[in-house]
Amino acid sequence: MNGEFIPAGTAVVGVKNKALNYGLGVIEGIRGYWNDEHEQLYLFRLADHYSRFLDACRTLYISLPYSVGDLCEITVDLVKLNNIKGNIYIRPVAYIDEDSLRPSLVNGNYGIFIALVEPGIYSLNELSTLTSSWLRISSNTIPPFIKSISGYLNSALAYSEAVLAGAEDAIFLTRDGNISEGSTSNLFIVNNNRLFTPPASDDIFPGLTRDTVITIAKKELGMETDIGSLPKSALYAADELFFTGTAIQLVSVVKTDHRTVGTGTTGPVTARLQQLYSQIVLGETSAYRRYLTPVW
Ligand code: PMP
Repeated sequence: MNGEFIPAGTAVVGVKNKALNYGLGVIEGIRGYWNDEHEQLYLFRLADHYSRFLDACRTLYISLPYSVGDLCEITVDLVKLNNIKGNIYIRPVAYIDEDSLRPSLVNGNYGIFIALVEPGIYSLNELSTLTSSWLRISSNTIPPFIKSISGYLNSALAYSEAVLAGAEDAIFLTRDGNISEGSTSNLFIVNNNRLFTPPASDDIFPGLTRDTVITIAKKELGMETDIGSLPKSALYAADELFFTGTAIQLVSVVKTDHRTVGTGTTGPVTARLQQLYSQIVLGETSAYRRYLTPVW
């Protein structure tokens, strides 16, 4: 935290801190995978995560005294210091480190911490979803393409509404009624052996898992992804539906808005992509080693 390695219990921000009072900050979510056979912990797309993190900081006028390379190095040191030899989720947070009440982003002190979290809570299998009554935040309100802390109120409202109504996650629409994404994940549709996913202009967060899936679908399965606006009804005509995200990885949506998706179980394209993704993150596919930072 702010240049020091300290125990999580003593890493605190005060009750008057703006980051707490107004949610002025940005986060990242990075995952590390332990490969037992290799006795190695691989951090997935570490530099890409930090490059996105620094872009987000710029949007909030947060200037940090670190480059992407510095942040990668600090993260590897942090994981080593904690002697992590298992799966891990890493949560960097940059924030306005000030106690004044003015909700200003500029001319402030900026803080950063990187916390280690167990990833177990996110082991999901097959989901049922509901289309949210909350629309996805849009570019001229709270930018959807950065992981701002305050933007997660949008996710939390949609997720909570879905869970209270008996589903396991939400699907956001845009103000124009197009499909956007899940509460903390991107969405793909498989139809007639083709992949479809909403574009940046439909207020998605441009996920790295989404990007990875688009790459491996093309290279490994010969499937191009159609990136374009999709109406809500495309959900109901889908053969397969799945979410992608660092935390949830690839998760099949088997029920949506009280309708069964495809056969009601994980479809063959989703299953194949899940398998490829898990081989890649575990360092079992040499062609994708460039995505991995070995810790040990
Ligand atoms: N959308 C939202 C709103 C998210 O919070 C996340 C998780 N970071 C994603 C999409 C997926 O992004 P990624 O694959 O980079 O984790």
